[in-house]
Amino acid sequence: MVKIQLSSRSPLLKSHLREANERLLLNMIRQNPDLSRADIVRITGFSASSVTFIIKRMIKAGLVCESPSERPARVGRQPLTLRLNPQALIAAGVEILGTGARVITADLHGNILAQRSVPWELDHMIFLVRVRDAIRALTAHLNPKNFLGVGVSLPGTIHRSTGRVIAAENLGWFDIDVGGILSEGSSARFHFGNDAHLGALAERWFCEPGSRPLENFVYVVLRQGLGTGVMLDGSLLRGATGEACEFGHTTLFADGRRCPCGSVGCWEEYASQRALERLYLEKRGAPRNRPAPDADEIIRLARNGDPLALGVLEETAGYLGIGFANINAVFNPEAIVVGDYLASGWDLMKDWVWNALRSRAPLRQLRLLRLLPSRHGADSTLLGTVALVLSSFFASSAESRPAA
Ligand SMILES: [Zn+2]
Repeated sequence: MVKIQLSSRSPLLKSHLREANERLLLNMIRQNPDLSRADIVRITGFSASSVTFIIKRMIKAGLVCESPSERPARVGRQPLTLRLNPQALIAAGVEILGTGARVITADLHGNILAQRSVPWELDHMIFLVRVRDAIRALTAHLNPKNFLGVGVSLPGTIHRSTGRVIAAENLGWFDIDVGGILSEGSSARFHFGNDAHLGALAERWFCEPGSRPLENFVYVVLRQGLGTGVMLDGSLLRGATGEACEFGHTTLFADGRRCPCGSVGCWEEYASQRALERLYLEKRGAPRNRPAPDADEIIRLARNGDPLALGVLEETAGYLGIGFANINAVFNPEAIVVGDYLASGWDLMKDWVWNALRSRAPLRQLRLLRLLPSRHGADSTLLGTVALVLSSFFASSAESRPAA
C-alpha cells in the first residue's frame, strides 16, 4: 500500500509498513480536520477494511477521535469525521536568545501546555545547564510513548543534527557543543535549527486549519540581529552549511556601520530591533537618568504621537522596505511574513514599508506580493521548535505515497 524507504540490508518488517500507513493517515487527518473514513478510502485507494483497521488502532491509542461532521449529510445519517486528539502527542521547544531562554511543552496544535524562562548568563556553560534543568523539569513526568522530543532554536548557524553552534555572533558563541550539553543524560530526541528558519516553519505548519499553507514566502526575524527563513515550493532553503539566505548580512551601505559579522553596512545594522533601539537613543541622546526604551516602548510612544518615536519608526521602515525589495528581486515570493517589533507595530509602519518597496520593485511583481504580520507574534520561533519536532515525526508519512 505504501512505499517506504528501507536500506537494502533492512528486513522488510510488517511493523514498518503499519507505522508508515498509520502516519500517512495521521498526517491526512492533521491537514484536513473534517475527513471521514470514506474520504480516506477515496483519497488513498486503500481498502475500507484496511482503513477501518488502522483507524481503530489509532482510536484505541488515543491519537484520533471520531465525532459527527459539521457538514450537512447528503443522505441518511450524519457522517462521522476524524480529528487528532491534540494532547495525544507532546513536543518540547527551546528558544535561546541574547536575553535568555524560553522552554515550553506544546500539543499537536501548538497549544502551549507549560513553560519556563531561564535568564541570560554570560557563562554559556552555566546558562545551558540551567536550560537543560528547565527542559527536564517540564518533561520528566511525560510518558515516553507520547513525548516526541525537543526542538531547539538559536540565532546563528547551528549543525542541524548535532546541535553544535558554528557561529552565533549576537550571543558571542562560536564552536560550542550546545546539543551535547542540553541532551546529556536524556533519552529524548533533540532537533536543532536557526531562529528565522523555524519562524518560517511555524508559519507554514501551524496555519489556519483547512486553509492553504503558504508555499513560497520569506519569514523575517527582527531581534538582536535580522534573520530570514526562505520557504520555496514548501521546502526550507538551508544551503550547503545551513547558512543560506542570511539577508541580514547583505550590504545596505558600502561605508555603513560595523556589524558583529565582521562586515560593514549590513541590513541588520539598520533594521533589527537592536538597530531600532540604538537609533532612538542616538536621536534622543542618552541622559543617565532616563532609561533606554525597548522596541515595545518605542511603539507605545509612537501610538501616543511622540514625534521622535514616529520619526525613528519611519526611518527604520524605509530600511526594511529596501531589504524587502532585495528579497522580492531574488525570490519573487507570494508573501513576506514579518515578526517581532514589526508585527507589533505593523499598523503604524506598513505604509512606510510599502512606500519604500514600491519605489524599488516592479509593479507587476508587487501585484502578487503580500506583506503579512506573523500569525504567532512573539511565539513564532518557539512554535517553530515544536513544528520542527512534529514535522520530523510526520515526515515518514509525508514522504510515503500510496503505491500505484
Ligand atoms: Zn553583518
